[in-house]
Amino acid sequence: MLKKLLVANRGEIAVRIIRAARALGIPTVAACSEADADSLAARQADEVRIIGPARAERSYLNAEALLQAARDSGADSVHSGYGFLSENADFAEAVTAAGLVFVGPDARTIRRMGDKAEARRTAMAAGVPVVPGSPGELEDVEAALRCAETVGYPLLVKASAGGGGRGIRIAHDAGELRREFPIAQREAQAAFGSGAVYLERFIRQARHIEVQILGDGQRAVHLFERECSLQRRRQKVFEEAPSAALSEAQREALCASAVRLAQSLGYRGAGTLEYLFDSHSGEFFFIEMNTRIQVEHPVSEMVTGIDLVQAMLRIAGGEPLALRQEDIRLNGAALEMRINAEDPARNFFPCPGTVEGLGWPQGDGVRVDSHLYPGYRVPPYYDSLLAKIIVHGKDREEAFARAQKALDETELSGMATTLSLHCWLLAEPRVRAAQFDTGTLETWLAERAAALEV
Ligand code: ADP
Ligand code: ADP
Ligand code: MG
Repeated sequence: MLKKLLVANRGEIAVRIIRAARALGIPTVAACSEADADSLAARQADEVRIIGPARAERSYLNAEALLQAARDSGADSVHSGYGFLSENADFAEAVTAAGLVFVGPDARTIRRMGDKAEARRTAMAAGVPVVPGSPGELEDVEAALRCAETVGYPLLVKASAGGGGRGIRIAHDAGELRREFPIAQREAQAAFGSGAVYLERFIRQARHIEVQILGDGQRAVHLFERECSLQRRRQKVFEEAPSAALSEAQREALCASAVRLAQSLGYRGAGTLEYLFDSHSGEFFFIEMNTRIQVEHPVSEMVTGIDLVQAMLRIAGGEPLALRQEDIRLNGAALEMRINAEDPARNFFPCPGTVEGLGWPQGDGVRVDSHLYPGYRVPPYYDSLLAKIIVHGKDREEAFARAQKALDETELSGMATTLSLHCWLLAEPRVRAAQFDTGTLETWLAERAAALEV
């Protein structure tokens, strides 16, 4: 078992990790920037280390400062959550080289799957279908134009090192590809430190469905799927488990392919394999793997009753996976609503402020993951996620009813938030009927904006 855990992250996920560690009796050290010295994570952890100024480059992205905090506090392990250094192979390597445990897969696996072109090749080798595209990175625009002949238009130019919905550009024809390709390369270089890009056919009206897996290096299991098709700017807004679009046979095939890929990697820790699902043909295609805990992990916890973060800590502590696949059952349905400090009426402009009134929903099947407290000043330097409201019901209908009740009970004043967007989504018949794909929410938002302007 781990002896003392450094939490190398902030916000709701830092609080989430501290809760899991506490449940296992592992003392925690919150690594905080100066801007987060009064955060809920700082209040809840057993110890606090200030790792640097507000700017993430000098704190949450500063590997040396984090390692120093681990050494100074006598921590033996590091959990990096999501975002920041969570998928940085060099960081994982540095943690290990310092004699500490990195809670997650080994650096080699992170590097391999963090390179999205390499991840595609790995998936193909494991017999997992991928989106038709270039076999690997493309040197120049001429190579891209040649490759595009077989891939077909429209297609996406994607950054091999991309993430967070960024580093993806669309081209509808050769002329557009010729224009977009060098822009994509330059942007990828600036944003991710690597200009490597590859091509993928654009799958129209696809649904984003991903599979949660857990592995101990020897054996891997799946915890079924999550659907995250409701997206804005390729970032998830509303997620659910299970997907209402899959038949039982499709679910089985999808989850089995994810386990196959995880097994082929000898995967250790929690991970997610993301796919696009074509509900017309019933085909699914692997797009990428996230070698970390994901924002939307709670919906899987709600439908399986398994605590993923505790499982990560146990595996990192050297325990073999206690779960057998046949023991993992899908129970009911769960929804997650991401509440961000963004104003839906002003094109989701970020608007952090000070929390005034705060009241969370209660009752059966309701869970809130948040780092807010009354009087808390949301710092403007980081991601705008304030809270995740997660609900569980015996079926999708009950989950929606509970979600509605949960939003009615929520009080969050002091800043504009995306709560109103979720009220609208819950009332939208096409959401209730699960009739959506990854492009739907953007279309609805554009229609709504146009309607408001008349
Ligand atoms: P999830 O599937 O867990 O939502 P995301 O890819 O949306 O994963 O990333 C989770 C968080 O990490 C988001 O808040 C996002 O802003 C951030 N993030 C992920 N990858 C990157 C990246 N390469 N650059 C910047 N931010 C990132
Ligand atoms: P990131 O690393 O930023 O999360 P992903 O490769 O997971 O990037 O893609 C993010 C989102 O972009 C997907 O959920 C989907 O909505 C869209 N997308 C990605 N690849 C394709 C594709 N080939 N066709 C259609 N949409 C895609
Ligand atoms: Mg993704």
